[in-house]
Amino acid sequence: MSGISDNFQRPVNYLRISVTDRCNLRCTYCMPTEGVKWVRHEDILSYEEITSIVQAAASVGISKVRVSGGEPLVRIDLPKLIAMLAQVQGIDDISLTTNGVLLKKYAAELKEAGLSRVNISLDSLRRGTFKKVTRRDKLPQVMAGIEEANRVGLEPVKINVVVMKGINDHEIGDFALKSMNGWHVRFIELMPFTNGGKLQPEFMPVQEMLDRLQSLGDLEACGAPPGNGPARYYRLSGATGTVGFITPVSEHFCFQCNRLRLSADGKLLPCLLSDKEVDLRPSLRQGAGESRITDLIMEAIASKPAGHRIDAGEILQKRLMTQVGG
Ligand code: SAM
Ligand code: SF4
Repeated sequence: MSGISDNFQRPVNYLRISVTDRCNLRCTYCMPTEGVKWVRHEDILSYEEITSIVQAAASVGISKVRVSGGEPLVRIDLPKLIAMLAQVQGIDDISLTTNGVLLKKYAAELKEAGLSRVNISLDSLRRGTFKKVTRRDKLPQVMAGIEEANRVGLEPVKINVVVMKGINDHEIGDFALKSMNGWHVRFIELMPFTNGGKLQPEFMPVQEMLDRLQSLGDLEACGAPPGNGPARYYRLSGATGTVGFITPVSEHFCFQCNRLRLSADGKLLPCLLSDKEVDLRPSLRQGAGESRITDLIMEAIASKPAGHRIDAGEILQKRLMTQVGG
């Protein structure tokens, strides 16, 4: 199937799938300490339902999927879903975004099931700071997960770091130096989801992160490692890995947005920051055929907005990041 574009001539070929809203961490910028009101088990899409949606999406030109959450590895038997998605004709790239806590246990099985790559979220290399940000003491588990992902060849392993002033900004250099040993590190601006849309005092724009890295020597602009993200990439002299920057706030990349998001309870979201949703679950559960699901996917694509206004304080009202998968 040749590709489809939205009303702004942007090709749409990428679906991010949230498989659960639950998580084994409580990152301060993402989830309250007590967690959130979880979606009821029966409202979460089954692996069969997710696969049917991906089949319909592939028929209109979606070729890449990313599995996310909440924390996707807390959902039972995730490798089973990966194996099911790997069988869908037209899907040529399956990736995973995870906090890495359970990755050591599952990396080999995920690779075997057909997972191509993994992104691991890690905001600190220091145990105390990690615990402060995630409210859990799990840094050793995450480091073991990164090692195992590399060992089994889930490459390129990318490490996503949300940079926060006064919390982990002093570690930017340490993370960047990890690229000398092959890490692909991406620094992400903090989005104001837990602050009613207002930028937090911890917000640090990418330009300031770049300035901080001056002391490490020349950062040369370079091509992206394989993947679908909107990052700008650089390489430190002699490094085998890369350093990337993602600017959802200071310089948004909506003009090249190629994605749809599927929530764990079956809503298609045309934009991370819009409250527009297309509900697929009722049709799926009433036994609608692929053509009905395809129509709903087309409706979601047609309603993709030109861009978000996070810089003007516009955020999702109905959902948290854990319910849309980042
Ligand atoms: N639990 C998995 C993880 O942490 O990788 C997957 C879901 S998490 C919602 C996906 C990504 O969203 C993570 O990289 C996380 O750091 C990022 N994220 C969540 N809240 C954010 C915020 N307020 N600003 C920037 N990134 C955020
Ligand atoms: Fe969990 Fe990921 Fe949100 Fe952290 S960012 S609380 S790991 S879903």
